[in-house]
Amino acid sequence: MRIPPNMALWKTVGNGTLEGISRVADLDASKLTITLSKTLKPIPHHETMMFGNIMSDHMLVAEFDPEIGWSSPEIKPRGPLSIDPASSCVQYGTTVFEGMKAYIGPDGEPRLFRPDMNMARLARSAERMALPPFNTDQVLALIKQLIIVDRRWIPLFSGYSLYVRPTITGTQIGFSVGASDHATLCIMLSPGGPYFRSNAKPTSVLAVSETVRAWPGGTGGHKVALNYSAGFLPLRAAQKQGYDQVLWLLGDDMKVTEAGAMNVFVVVARDDGDIDLLTPPLDGTILPGVTRDSVLALAKAHTAGETTLPGLEIQNSQRVRLHAQERSFTMAEMVQWSTEGKILEAFGAGTAVVIASIGKIGWKGEDLDLPVHEGGLGPIAKALRTRILDIQEGREIWKNWSILVTDL
Ligand SMILES: *Cc1c(COP(=O)(O)O)cnc(C)c1O
Repeated sequence: MRIPPNMALWKTVGNGTLEGISRVADLDASKLTITLSKTLKPIPHHETMMFGNIMSDHMLVAEFDPEIGWSSPEIKPRGPLSIDPASSCVQYGTTVFEGMKAYIGPDGEPRLFRPDMNMARLARSAERMALPPFNTDQVLALIKQLIIVDRRWIPLFSGYSLYVRPTITGTQIGFSVGASDHATLCIMLSPGGPYFRSNAKPTSVLAVSETVRAWPGGTGGHKVALNYSAGFLPLRAAQKQGYDQVLWLLGDDMKVTEAGAMNVFVVVARDDGDIDLLTPPLDGTILPGVTRDSVLALAKAHTAGETTLPGLEIQNSQRVRLHAQERSFTMAEMVQWSTEGKILEAFGAGTAVVIASIGKIGWKGEDLDLPVHEGGLGPIAKALRTRILDIQEGREIWKNWSILVTDL
């Protein structure tokens, strides 16, 4: 057998036993073939774009076979995949995914926000589901190629972007309970608008402890499909009670973990006049969000004087000092801070929403009302959201966070 030049080590695992190690082809963006759709869809009016309800014309597909490795990737018209109903993904939910966005900058060029973080997370998620490995630089190169092919789908309005959904799913056929040694990589694009419309209200969340999103040693720190489907029933129950999202708690002490599929932040007034910006630590039950990391980094840079967040300029000859901390907090602490009037703001952070303020927390049959701010967002959430959007949309440069899609 000819050994391909670009190789990965792949451990073939069947029924839980290591059968051997073979050298197979790694994912290779230089082998990409492109088959364009004969009919391009009309692009709907941007105001009809909800989150993920519209798809672009094309998708990228590559398949992994344990004997051959990764197939030559293909960009082709978007459509169904042919998947055997006995496949691992159908039977055992071996699916992982990513969520990132492409934005048009003032120069008219599409860019991605910190995609290296999404790629590293995709590799970790795939590993956690025992799916085949792949070269993440090649996945990123393929994402860029797909965006270039479908670049007319990137909306040209601020707050709008093209959502990128790389998905890897286990396609081994059979009911044997074990790792899937076949997989399909599929990348799709979906144009979307801002979470905040003019009449947007802050998000309301129902704190839930009877069901949990994640647990120590589980999969909560990875973007695996199973984490989401298990939350749909509690989400529907919360929505029936009039709340937008579930605030996921964990443990006997009711630690606050995440809000829906967003990382959660609370802004608390300190006795010394400074401000604490708290979010739970990455202990394996928290999804390591790119937005979360960006919020923490920008808040720290602001307090260190490396940048000044918009609206948080010097006040009373002092800059607003934010103490960004990864530390857990409980519902009991939230109630106490709220009673003492110390909660200034609470918000969720994630790629889809960027920053969404939380206005109300349902808990033990009552509502914990959080401060209401004009326009929905409090000053800290607004400063962070504005700065992150400015970087994403290429109006501000910060580190290497925004990269050009055309830099292949
Ligand atoms: C994706 C996700 C987030 C946000 O991560 P980003 O990288 O900021 O988009 C937060 N929590 C959960 C559970 C998620 O799935």
